[in-house]
Formats: sequence, structure tokens, C-alpha cells
Amino acid sequence: MSDKFRAILVSRDDEKNQSVDVVELGNDDLMEGNVTIKVEATTVNYKDGLAITGKSPVIRHWPMVPGIDLAGSVIHSESDEFKAGDKVLLNGFGVGETHWGGFAGHARLNSDWLIPLPKGLTSQQAMGIGTAGYTAMLCVMALERHGITPNSGPMIVTGANGGVGTVAVAILSKLGYHVIASTGRASESGFLTELGAAEIIDRAELSEAGRPLGKERWAAGVDAVGSHTLANLLAQTQYGGAIAACGLAQGFDLPTTVMPFILRGIALLGVDSVMASKELRHEAWSRISTDLDPAKLDSLTTTIGFDDIIAAATDIVDGKIRGRVIVDMT
Ligand code: NDP
Repeated sequence: MSDKFRAILVSRDDEKNQSVDVVELGNDDLMEGNVTIKVEATTVNYKDGLAITGKSPVIRHWPMVPGIDLAGSVIHSESDEFKAGDKVLLNGFGVGETHWGGFAGHARLNSDWLIPLPKGLTSQQAMGIGTAGYTAMLCVMALERHGITPNSGPMIVTGANGGVGTVAVAILSKLGYHVIASTGRASESGFLTELGAAEIIDRAELSEAGRPLGKERWAAGVDAVGSHTLANLLAQTQYGGAIAACGLAQGFDLPTTVMPFILRGIALLGVDSVMASKELRHEAWSRISTDLDPAKLDSLTTTIGFDDIIAAATDIVDGKIRGRVIVDMT
């Protein structure tokens, strides 16, 4: 097998001007790790968009091969856990931020970051889910741990046409929830209904500064948006409900008051996928294989090639990507 492969390399000069190039690398160029992987599929997450466009300081080691997710087969392993030919999956752990990631033909990683590719999933399907989808599952699990069930009442999902949002809508509807999808793209209402949304609301209803408490509209929610949207979600959650917060597509601020917490006992559940424990990852991926309908997963993914990654990275930051993007590297 050739040792040479293409990669996207993000560099910066002494004035901190960022540049993005497609380069040819060999295995000797890769960073340290005990498992070398042939990347069969990767994906473009919102964070990858921020890294490639330089819109936020995601990259903390220069130069960087971005790509926070990858799936592929082991070429070489110095770990007892994995052997050549094994199919593996990587989400997060700072890959694509501090350690070279998935936008390359090969990757060298730490075995502790890898999990076996879940049974029944191809590398491409796993990347159709990716960090965004696995985070949606982590949000659902966090709400369940808080005692939320389909009988609790409606569930709102914000950023519904995005990666986290589409997978959350699909999973929650399969679990029997009455899903309210909040989106800025009314033109995609039909798609969201097919995915399982029972109601669709315009995200403009939630995106401006609101009152500390409002009419109780939902029992719980999955929020990928942050800022005023998250504040309004909290203010309109039923007594004893909970919101799982995982994203900042509108902003990282949270202009709320203590009123939802002290008068309605609302819980704000933080969800992080990057450093989540191995146990939580295994549980989330195992739940995904039962709680996400494969046909719905197909309907929310678009497949692109390596040459399309940079354009997709710009599109995701501009809110132009619907659902999830699979980058087929084979
Ligand atoms: P996407 O870009 O795919 O989706 C984000 C969606 O948010 C858009 O599709 C859009 O949905 C909505 N949106 C975009 N801009 C705004 C805005 N200004 N105001 C309100 N809504 C907006 O990203 P992902 O779904 O992959 O990720 C969503 C968020 O979650 C990101 O902030 C990401 O960084 C974060 N994230 C966090 C993780 C964690 O570990 N905590 C893991 C994965 C993601 P619509 O068009 O339907 O309105």
C-alpha cells in the first residue's frame, strides 16, 4: 500500500494569517500515536467549518490537519486493543484541534481515543452520524437520565435542519416524542416532517431577547443554538423540565435569568462530546444503532468527496448544509 496520501493542511504565518492547502504527505509526517489508520470516511462538522474558515480559534496546534471525526481500517497497531484490518471510529478527543485529524488519507491516533466501528454500520454510515449525531444521542440520554420520557410532554429541537438537529428529530420521533422543530428554513418543513417532526416553528420566535418566564410550551429540549434561543427555551419549559445544551450556532452567550431555575425547577444539562468517557461513547453508539432508523439516516445525509471538503466547511458555517455530510475517502 502506498505511503503517500492527500491531506488538507491549515497553516498560519507570523502575522497569524491563516491559509488552507491540499498537500501530499507520507506516514512519516504524521503526529505520534500507536495506531495508524486508513481513513475510509470522514465528515464536515460545524467545528471543522470554524477551523477551516478560521472563524473561531478551534485550532490549537499549527499546522493542523482538521477533521474531528473519522472511520476506517487499521493499517498498523502497537496497541493490544487493535490489530491491522480492524474497523475503528474516532470522535473528538481534540483530534482536528490539537492532533491531526480526518481530512487526510491516513491518520495516526492514540488507541484510547478509538472505539470499534459499531456492528452493522459501514465507515460511511458512521460518518453520516458523526460527532453531531452522537452528540444528539448524548443529549437524549442526558434528558432521559433527568427522567424525561415521551409522556412528559413535547420536546423542542433547535437548529433542526443542522447535523445535531436532524439526527435529534429522527431519534426522538422514533422514541415516541412529540417533536417541535425550530428552524430558519421554512422551505425544509416537508423534510423535517418526513424525519418525524410533529410541529415546526420559525426560529425567529426564539432568537430575540424574551421575557424571563413565558407560557410553558415544552417539557424538554435539545439546543444546538445557544444565546437568546437557549434563554427563551428555558423560559418556556414546563415545570420540572430540562434542556440539553450542546451548541452555539447563534452565539456562546446565555442572556437568561435565574427565574426558570428557581420558580419552575428547570434543569440546564450541559453536553460535551469531545472528552466524553468511553462508557458514554459505547452507550451512545449502541443506542444509535437501535434508535436511529437507517432509512431516515440516509435521507438526512449528502455524500461528497475529498475535493469538496473546503467548500462544505464554508457552507456549514453559513448555515447552508442540511443534515449531515459524509466525505467518502475510498
Ligand atoms: P450545523 O451547522 O449543521 O447546524 C446548526 C443549525 O443551527 C443550522 O443548520 C441552523 O438550523 C441553526 N442556526 C445557524 N445559525 C443560526 C443562528 N444565527 N440563529 C439560530 N439558529 C441558527 O451544525 P451542527 O448541528 O453540526 O452543530 C450545531 C452546534 O452544536 C454547533 O454550535 C456545534 O459547534 C455544536 N456541537 C457541539 C458538540 C458538543 O460536544 N457539545 C458536538 C457537536 C456539535 P436551521 O437552518 O434549521 O435554523
